[in-house]
Amino acid sequence: MDDSWTLPHICAERCNACGACVVACENHALELDGGVAALSHPESCGGCGVCEIICPEGAIDLAFEIVWEEELCSSEEEKPLVGGREPLAGGGRDVQ
Ligand code: SF4
Ligand code: SF4
Repeated sequence: MDDSWTLPHICAERCNACGACVVACENHALELDGGVAALSHPESCGGCGVCEIICPEGAIDLAFEIVWEEELCSSEEEKPLVGGREPLAGGGRDVQ
């Protein structure tokens, strides 16, 4: 399977060409092309999800959701695990 599923999908019908995603993309992967945002440089996309978050029209979708560590924790005792650590007594989720 190729890695294209990790790339943002842009709905041309929803895009109003505001350019917010183009400006926000630090990797310069997006451009406005013919009045619609386009992933002109997919090889530069790091899948950060900023474009999806910033789009006021909900025109950009990534096939996955980035969940920050704080959102995984319901308490101080349930910190997510990173790379090979044993589970904490109160439980935790492996985020390798
Ligand atoms: S932020 Fe959304 S509406 Fe604006 S150019 Fe990008 S895709 Fe289009
Ligand atoms: S996911 Fe991140 S790197 Fe990829 S196009 Fe959107 S803002 Fe740019």
